[in-house]
Amino acid sequence: MGQPVAGNPSQFMMERSFAAAGLDWRYLTLEVSPEDLPAAVAGMKAMGFRGGNFTIPHKVAVIPHLKRLTEAAELMGAVNCIYAEEDGFVGENTDGKGFVTALQEVIDPAGKRIVVLGAGGAARAIAVELGLHKAASIDIVNRDAGRGRDLANLLSERVGLESKWIPWNGTHALAEGDEIVINATSVGLCDGSAMVPVDPTTFRESMIVADVIFNPPNTCFLQAAEEAGCQTIDGLGMLVNQGVIGFKIWTGVDPDPAVMREALEEYLGI
Ligand code: NDP
Repeated sequence: MGQPVAGNPSQFMMERSFAAAGLDWRYLTLEVSPEDLPAAVAGMKAMGFRGGNFTIPHKVAVIPHLKRLTEAAELMGAVNCIYAEEDGFVGENTDGKGFVTALQEVIDPAGKRIVVLGAGGAARAIAVELGLHKAASIDIVNRDAGRGRDLANLLSERVGLESKWIPWNGTHALAEGDEIVINATSVGLCDGSAMVPVDPTTFRESMIVADVIFNPPNTCFLQAAEEAGCQTIDGLGMLVNQGVIGFKIWTGVDPDPAVMREALEEYLGI
């Protein structure tokens, strides 16, 4: 559920995966206004839904309608995935887990010095999950001081790792010690020519560079990192892996991630 939801690829991806797994299940994309959210969640329960995903603007507003939250969702203060238990829905957040699964295919975040660009919903989910996976430190680079400080404080006070907010004025220069660099801003979404304001001469070959943007996935940010010799991770991996996690939670079955990625690429015309 979300508003707007036109162009959201999740139903296409999930229903392909249900078919590939031999499951006669449905995943519906439903446009729901904020006023109708309580009735819509009650309707899911009444109609026996196993669960669902929530996107903008419902990720925080859905919380009072749930029975409980997982540790990650509680720390993030946002829910993008729910699943049914006997007496109500449990709120989970699979965005950060999806990102970390994609990252782990390349590198283990434990003990690494990480920089996250952005402090919105995606950055929060990713940073908390990286903290739960024992990152050594996470610098939060963000324009808005309130959001930047809040996230850095959450990480240091509640997740227990070294974290600080770095103000983002003009072009950000990456530090020599940054080992993993993540663009978690919305810069590049539906705009293949938009560059995240980072000085490309500060990329170093040893850095792993990731982007949350999946449309288009080959962002200017990742292209600049590749030109500098960095290994890169695109936003499709995060989207596929949060789908894999939700699928498993609801059905108990492991889906084929390759089927999900192919479906996404077909839907997005990549
Ligand atoms: P939010 O609106 O919550 O946050 C946006 C963030 O981007 C803020 O930190 C904002 O900074 C920053 N930002 C926006 N424009 C600029 C700019 N010009 N320069 C610097 N910073 C900027 O969005 P979300 O966190 O929910 O989503 C961010 C992106 O992540 C979206 O594009 C979304 O599509 C993608 N996403 C991808 C997923 C995947 O599976 N691949 C899953 C979830 C999200 P400030 O606070 O200073 O305004």
